[in-house]
Formats: sequence, C-alpha cells, structure tokens
Amino acid sequence: MIDYYEILRCSIDASHDQLKSNYKKLILLHHPDKSGESTSDRFHLIQEAWDVLGDSHKRKQFDEELKLFYSYTKNVILYDTVKVDELNHDSDGDYKMCRCGGHYYVTNDLKILLRSLHAVYIPCPFCSFTLKVIE
Ligand SMILES: [Zn+2]
Repeated sequence: MIDYYEILRCSIDASHDQLKSNYKKLILLHHPDKSGESTSDRFHLIQEAWDVLGDSHKRKQFDEELKLFYSYTKNVILYDTVKVDELNHDSDGDYKMCRCGGHYYVTNDLKILLRSLHAVYIPCPFCSFTLKVIE
C-alpha cells in the first residue's frame, strides 16, 4: 500500500491547507519538464496522492485503509530486515531466503513502492515470517 501522506511529506493529521501547499511545492519540484524522465514516476505519485488526500471523502476512506495497514505491519513476525542492495539474485529476480527455505522475492513493482515508502514488507509464502526490505 502506498502511503500518500509520505508522498506529500505530511503526517496523517495534516490540515487540508498544509497538504495543498506541500502538493504544490512537490509538483513543481518533480515536474517532468524540470527534473527529467527518471522522476516522472514520482510526479504521477504526487498527483495521485493529492487526488485522494485533497478530496475529503476519499481521504477519510484512505485514512481507514492506512490505519489498518499499519496495524497489520506492526503485528507481523519479522524474520529479518535487509537493504535492497543486499539481496541475492537468481534468474527469477532478487530474493532473500527465509529460515524455512522459502524465498522472499522482491519484484520490480515492490522496488518502485520501496522508493516512495522507504520500507516494504513481504510475507513468506510458506511460513508466518515477514521480511522487511529497506532502501
Ligand atoms: Zn518462511
């Protein structure tokens, strides 16, 4: 799940005006015309974040999902925390092996998410452990 507050560099209790002013600053900073192609992902994320958080109804719904998400990540049984560049690599992609022998695969989608969230959680497909991957 993408934390749009993180994208707009605000906390969950930020006011509408605060979100709006951060959005305006960030959208200028990351505009593809100014910053080159590599940050256009970020540009779209900022627009997406404002589309949700700028709308009081959508924001309320998002807040509920986000709280659920964080209560989930707080309760996971963490196997390990690894940096993305410390992962092993095979023909299927980047991975870390779990204690049970299962593999935590870090897909490209997850890596894109990681850039905005700074941490992602991957559940082991075979046991109850979760791997935390950081930048
Ligand atoms: Zn496992």
